[in-house]
Amino acid sequence: MSDDAPHDDSPHDDSPHDDSPHILSTRAADSDDDANDTPANTGEFHAFWADEVADIIEAREPDEPIVIKGGVSPSGVAPLGNVNEVMRGYFVAEVLRERGYEVRQVFTSDDKDPLRKLPRKLANADGEIVGLGDVDAGALGRNLGKPYTAIPDPFGERESYAAHFAALLQADADRLGVPVEMISNTELYAEGAFDDAIRTVLSDLDGVRETLSAYQDKVDDTYVPFNPICAECGKVTETVTAVDVEAGTVEYACTDMTVGGDVIDGCGREGTATFREGKLPWRLEWPAQWGILGVDFEPFGKDHAEGSWPSGVDIARNVFGAEPPVPMVYEWFTLDGAALSSSAGNVVTVPELLQLLEPVVVRYFFALHPKKARDLDIDRLDQLVDRFDRFERAAAGEVDDEELTAFAERAYPFVAGEEPRAERVRLPYTFAAVLGMVDDPALREQLARDEGHIEADTP
Ligand SMILES: [Zn+2]
Repeated sequence: MSDDAPHDDSPHDDSPHDDSPHILSTRAADSDDDANDTPANTGEFHAFWADEVADIIEAREPDEPIVIKGGVSPSGVAPLGNVNEVMRGYFVAEVLRERGYEVRQVFTSDDKDPLRKLPRKLANADGEIVGLGDVDAGALGRNLGKPYTAIPDPFGERESYAAHFAALLQADADRLGVPVEMISNTELYAEGAFDDAIRTVLSDLDGVRETLSAYQDKVDDTYVPFNPICAECGKVTETVTAVDVEAGTVEYACTDMTVGGDVIDGCGREGTATFREGKLPWRLEWPAQWGILGVDFEPFGKDHAEGSWPSGVDIARNVFGAEPPVPMVYEWFTLDGAALSSSAGNVVTVPELLQLLEPVVVRYFFALHPKKARDLDIDRLDQLVDRFDRFERAAAGEVDDEELTAFAERAYPFVAGEEPRAERVRLPYTFAAVLGMVDDPALREQLARDEGHIEADTP
């Protein structure tokens, strides 16, 4: 490596402590969020949070393959927020694989949900964000209220809007070197995977209503938590008028659906639907998936920690009679100091980010402790790269910081996918940016050598 690496182990080191990667696990375990009511951890100290989570999963003696799940709702763009879940699950999966377990990392797509309103922006297959004017927006507008899997891909490439969106997430995961298995809820329903869960729910409507009423409004004694798809117009309906559990069918009426201040018209049809021709509402669907897929671990953003998670735990235990998976709440990160928001335009996609950063740096960002809120400052990505460089040097034993070194020695192989390289060449980010403006490769290399970033004998 170059011999002019900054000596940032001095007491005057101003490396930002908000990005301390090593809010060490014993301290993090003390944090007081409700989703942490997991089995007591082993008390063993770990420098990498993923080991802590793996301990908790192992303590439950899971069947193999161990299943780590994430979930996505199809929407206009696949914001980097989804990647949080991809990467958090990945590090836990990799730690468990290292311990000898077979692990599946799956992502369910809530693609039987209805499209409730038009997205303002969409990402094309390359992850580039376009406006509605650039696609067949009329096709979307005509299909409000229908499941995402029943709506054409507005780019005309895949078999549906849902398939387009699932491909975006899969592509992002591929770009970051993370193997994930996408699972379509629509397909699970079609193959009957949800049949038993639906039968359980519809067999005990009073009990289920009582459980649900603690978490949501509009649960009266006529409420049936099942949404058939209308055989006439294809929309997801909300009015079930009769249930026949023996026959495995419900009677429904295709009534209007109110979404925010808007109304999606029903067609008025009254008909019969089987369990495979409808869906559970999300509050029941999520815990049903845990049983169907045998989920052992699911990370989720803190917005779920207060509402959906407690109800999911209650429903898993008291409706489905099953233990929920090990949870992990991760903090959101902000982008340039503000919340990620595709509607407000504060969004960055993985392809955009990877034009500025190496994948390994993005992986590093998500290896930092999940319970600490962080900002991704697009104008100062050089700082993130500097921190990564320091992390990498620490993994090679070159930084005098005990905590960082303990974290880096354990986490680096999972971040880099390899052992620390002795002869790596890492250019300071700002210098690399200058080189990026030079087209001629020979000139670039000459500049780097002139600046002392490459030793004379570096290949
Ligand atoms: Zn209808």
